[in-house]
Amino acid sequence: MLRVAVVGGGPSGSCAAEVLANAGIQTWLFERKLDNAKPCGGAIPLCMVEEFDLPESIIDRKVRNMKMISPSNREVDIHLPNSNEYIGMCRREVLDSFLRDRAASLGTQLINGLVQRIDTGKNRQGPYTIHYADYAGGGPTGELKSMEVDLIVGADGANSRVAKAMDAGDYNVAIAFQERIRLPKEEMAYYEDLAEMYVGTDVSPDFYAWVFPKYDHVAVGTGTMQKNQSLIKGLQQGIRERASKRLLKGEVIKVEAHPIPEHPRPRRVVGRMALVGDAAGYVTKSSGEGIYFAAKSGRMCAEEIVNACAGGTRIPSEADLKIYLKKWDKKYGPTYKVLEILQNVFYSNDAAREAFVEMCDDLDVQRLTFDSYLYKRVVTMNPWQQLKLTFRTLASVLRGQALAPSGYRPVASAVRTEEEVALMMAPPAATDTDTQTIHGLGQDAGATSAADRQPALSR
Ligand SMILES: Cc1cc2nc3c(=O)[nH]c(=O)nc-3n(C[C@H](O)[C@H](O)[C@H](O)COP(=O)(O)OP(=O)(O)OC[C@H]3O[C@@H](n4cnc5c(N)ncnc54)[C@H](O)[C@@H]3O)c2cc1C
Repeated sequence: MLRVAVVGGGPSGSCAAEVLANAGIQTWLFERKLDNAKPCGGAIPLCMVEEFDLPESIIDRKVRNMKMISPSNREVDIHLPNSNEYIGMCRREVLDSFLRDRAASLGTQLINGLVQRIDTGKNRQGPYTIHYADYAGGGPTGELKSMEVDLIVGADGANSRVAKAMDAGDYNVAIAFQERIRLPKEEMAYYEDLAEMYVGTDVSPDFYAWVFPKYDHVAVGTGTMQKNQSLIKGLQQGIRERASKRLLKGEVIKVEAHPIPEHPRPRRVVGRMALVGDAAGYVTKSSGEGIYFAAKSGRMCAEEIVNACAGGTRIPSEADLKIYLKKWDKKYGPTYKVLEILQNVFYSNDAAREAFVEMCDDLDVQRLTFDSYLYKRVVTMNPWQQLKLTFRTLASVLRGQALAPSGYRPVASAVRTEEEVALMMAPPAATDTDTQTIHGLGQDAGATSAADRQPALSR
């Protein structure tokens, strides 16, 4: 019987393991940290809920309103009119363990272990031996073990060891930084079903910043391409400042940062080793979306293994695995290209960002954007819509030049009067508590490593 090791228990690995185990293939899923909380905004498209049969309990918030905020503080409200449509907001520790447990319930053998080294044989054609530290015993360093397998799926994220072992080649990585900020219930009400997206040089020279709602906190973050990585803390400070008056009384409960691949690796299949998800480099430009593409690529790769293995009696070849790549590139290649062009055009300077936000005011643009995001389908426009969109783009770009700001002020929706702020922040009574909040945002943007409970930020 075919033996497959899936390295990495994020969405890509679990969705690959699920398909393999379901087909009766011997499958081991290696995850170094079973309670891993992958640094992530956690936004997923509606189609993922159905396609991957996710229960409602996975979704913290159903976002139907999106506020886009331009550099000159123009705000465009985008509303999803159909009550059954939404962007799902989830916590990755919840989503990932659900998918992993489901794969295990179908027969995947889940190993709580860190894969440290892989022997790949002559010309990387096998035999493949996985060397790992098994943490099942509970010790900090784990017990060193090894296992021989016929095939490896590399689902181990942006710092993939499988990619190194197979000499997949490097990719550029963007950096994303995020703080989870817990808000009192009454303040969370504002973010009930609302997410915010900010653009401007102050929050990112080439991407966007976000405030995404989770069940009792908001995820506030930003990202930037590899070449601007050194700016990341200042950019995080930028989004904190822009959203500051909505984050009064907030408490930073987690600070996290992680690389995001900017493009696919030069080689994604070598011998009988295949990369999926972030390890392969499947995050889209413009939106920075990777969860759906990770899950989908894991599934598609596993389906090709199942197709080629004759019920587990045959070991699929490199050529068999490359069919997955061919199908993947055909299905999603155009999406990646279009989003790359959009990022280059609309996130390049503040004038272009003004144009971008202004265009989002158009209902046709909104429908088009949401249809392609929520359902991952290519949307065709009628000639009149196309013409209108072309004129709007040109007009927006021209107007954008005039609107591009020289400085930043708080956006209208986030502004509270000084009196309101004073009232909110007044100590409850003579018995002041030592509750620490983030109403003074002048502090250092924090460390790049995750810290489960940051010292709260205060004046
Ligand atoms: C700050 C930030 C915000 C983001 N926001 C969004 C968003 O809102 N929506 C969206 O769609 N995408 C978002 N992304 C991208 C998304 O997080 C990734 O594309 C997605 O997690 C990729 O899934 P994956 O399974 O391929 O890899 P990962 O989720 O990285 O999972 C890899 C797993 O492998 C494990 N692992 C790694 N090495 C080993 C090893 N040697 N041995 C054993 N286990 C190992 C890790 O512990 C991890 O669990 C964001 C990314 C960042 C950094």
